[in-house]
Amino acid sequence: MEKNRPVLITGGSRGIGAAIALGLAKAGYDIWLNYHTNTQRAEEVKSRIESLGRACLLLPFDVSDEAAAKEALSPLLAEQAPYALVHNAGITRDALAANMTREQWDSVIGIHLTAYYILTRLVLKPMLLARGGRIVAIASISGEVGEVGQMNYSAAKAGLIGASKALAREMGRCGVLVNVVSPGLIETDMTSGLPMDKIKPLIPLRRAGKPEEVAGVVEFLLGEGAGYITGQVIGVNGGLYM
Ligand code: NDP
Repeated sequence: MEKNRPVLITGGSRGIGAAIALGLAKAGYDIWLNYHTNTQRAEEVKSRIESLGRACLLLPFDVSDEAAAKEALSPLLAEQAPYALVHNAGITRDALAANMTREQWDSVIGIHLTAYYILTRLVLKPMLLARGGRIVAIASISGEVGEVGQMNYSAAKAGLIGASKALAREMGRCGVLVNVVSPGLIETDMTSGLPMDKIKPLIPLRRAGKPEEVAGVVEFLLGEGAGYITGQVIGVNGGLYM
């Protein structure tokens, strides 16, 4: 565990990403906090992190835009390697496959999967020079079981699982550990429109998860206790998928 190096979290202004950033700040990490457009929410997270005595750098850019990611990160990466990348940023653009537009497909694949390619390639070399690091992708139960209306999202999340396993094999001997956290139904803006009362009876624990319950697993995966874990998919889903 290297708390003198910051953790880069994508999509950290709200929901699961904000909970991860706050949890890691409480655990003693400084944070590089990416988000897309919601500056007000990002500023709130930043001030909560600072009140915990940790540093927080706001990095607004679209994770699927390679030029924007390079512009924001290259000057920082020239100075310092992040200890970890937590790739959490995400959107849904649901539609039945027959009606899914190319824009719905491309945007979801871009923000989840292509962004993983863009960001891991940016941070890997500095991590290797720093002799190690951790990469965690936030996937989804939808990528493990497939979901009606989510051909784009299920493909992107399943892609993250495959990409993470390939990267874990490549990077193992270099001390970079690569894992996936796969949440089920978590209470955030993303799920606020879902019919919770219909879904909850299907979940063995009979409730939705809290963002903090995903954040706790990410914190574990960055810690010393997870030093022999790589290439794994850890479900945080109340038993919805086993
Ligand atoms: P929210 O909608 O609450 O937050 C999404 C976050 O991603 C925001 O910080 C948003 O920034 C950011 N973001 C969106 N698009 C981009 C982009 N192009 N570039 C950079 N940042 C972007 O989502 P959740 O917290 O619910 O989800 C977080 C992750 O967890 C996602 O990957 C999601 O797929 C996954 N997940 C969520 C589940 C759930 O039940 N909630 C279940 C399984 C997986 P801004 O505020 O600026 O818009």
